[in-house]
Amino acid sequence: MLTNKKQWRIGIIGIYHESNTFIDQRTSMANFAEGHLFFGDAILAEYEKAFHEIGGMVEVLRQHPVDIVPIMYAEATPGGIIDLPTAEQLMHKLRVAVQETEILDGLLVSPHGAAVSENSDDFDGMWLTMIRELLPDIPIIGTLDPHANVSEKMVEVTDALIAYKTNPHIDQRAVGKQAAVLMIDTLAEKIKPVQRLLSSNVAISIEQQYTAASPCLELYHLAEELSRKAGVLSVSINLGFPYADVPDMASSFIVVTDNDEPLADKILKELQDYFVKNHRDFSGKKTSVGEAMEKIEGLDKPVLLLDMGDNVGGGSPGDGTFLLHALESKRSWKSFICICDPEVVKQIIERSMWDHISVIVGGKSDDKHGDPLTSMVKLISIVDGKFTESEARHGGQVRYDMGKTAIVETPNGTTIMITSLRTVPFSLQQLLHFKLEPAAFDVIVAKGVQAPIAAYGPVCPSMIRVNTPGVTTADINRLTYEKRKKPLFPFEEINQL
Ligand SMILES: [Zn+2]
Repeated sequence: MLTNKKQWRIGIIGIYHESNTFIDQRTSMANFAEGHLFFGDAILAEYEKAFHEIGGMVEVLRQHPVDIVPIMYAEATPGGIIDLPTAEQLMHKLRVAVQETEILDGLLVSPHGAAVSENSDDFDGMWLTMIRELLPDIPIIGTLDPHANVSEKMVEVTDALIAYKTNPHIDQRAVGKQAAVLMIDTLAEKIKPVQRLLSSNVAISIEQQYTAASPCLELYHLAEELSRKAGVLSVSINLGFPYADVPDMASSFIVVTDNDEPLADKILKELQDYFVKNHRDFSGKKTSVGEAMEKIEGLDKPVLLLDMGDNVGGGSPGDGTFLLHALESKRSWKSFICICDPEVVKQIIERSMWDHISVIVGGKSDDKHGDPLTSMVKLISIVDGKFTESEARHGGQVRYDMGKTAIVETPNGTTIMITSLRTVPFSLQQLLHFKLEPAAFDVIVAKGVQAPIAAYGPVCPSMIRVNTPGVTTADINRLTYEKRKKPLFPFEEINQL
């Protein structure tokens, strides 16, 4: 008979990084520290109310006689491979945090699924394996970002993994709830989850990963239908993260059933059959910068230009200038663009409002994202770069920090927000909080592909995904892979499947 004692102790752990292996820069501990690095109750303080999977997990756990044991959460803005000292430090911090935790009955995890470190092409598989070795006898259930390149190891060492079903990811909280319900039902011995993975021979460009429209929509409908079958606990589509040259880079499916492996395999085969039959629909048309400039004229304003080659959420430097140069040379519209350039912020931080200052902005991190723009800009404001988001937006984060930020205007009508830190364009507060009204612009550039749409879709009646060059190019045939599997569409034909 239970009295005051809680029935179960359930831990929560997340290490969340999307690693772009085509970037020269490495992701360091400083990047995690300036991102989101929390231990213990600080995890709940940050995420309990957020549209983040941990918020969903906690909401469900609070409805049951559970001791919630938040252990560790680490997230850095998508970027290059995690460097070796950082990978080792994260593993060490995690090991110590788990060893210091009293006995657990279950563990909820939140890996991204596309983390790569200097010592592992499958960093998520590595840390999840360590956790499993430390906690061999308890259920480990978690969520995945659908940009995961899922490995057999991740699936082997966990009991159930469920991917978000939306891109932009606006269902993170709901999927966190689903994972927590599975955990409660498992501990109550109502179910015994088993999961199976099928990694396909298809890679999908990020451009075709918008879940609210064809061709993803039909695939998600099929998965939804299959998930309603008796005995099925969840069906996940992992669209994959093509900017990682690793053996597991591909779209994949995970099916979790109630102790029924043959049923899981049967459902995987149905998904695979559909996917192979329709795989050609998943390679789309590309709009060049020049074509985009021509299209803008006839579209309702503001037009959202999605800078696919400099997709900060895919790890790119955020200082790409191809669209900036194109808009500047057109001189036709009032435009907005955000560029990460700490050097320029430092240069102008002491200047007065409305000063005219000569700057050389953007295009500095490498030679893949356009040349710097030289312009005599007018300084509009200097801000602290901090803002918060309270709505369901891609990534589920609440607090954002762009570092010291300067807002300037060029003589050609472009407003440039120059930040000190790379910042994902997932929240409209990035403009609103700093007194920039989206409707005042004809063109808004967001350095992303699908993720910004949750924020900008409601205020931009038109959008164009632009095939800009860069480390997150939509044209994945331009990337040079050495470790990926073969055959893999669109690089090779897969007719033999
Ligand atoms: Zn994602």
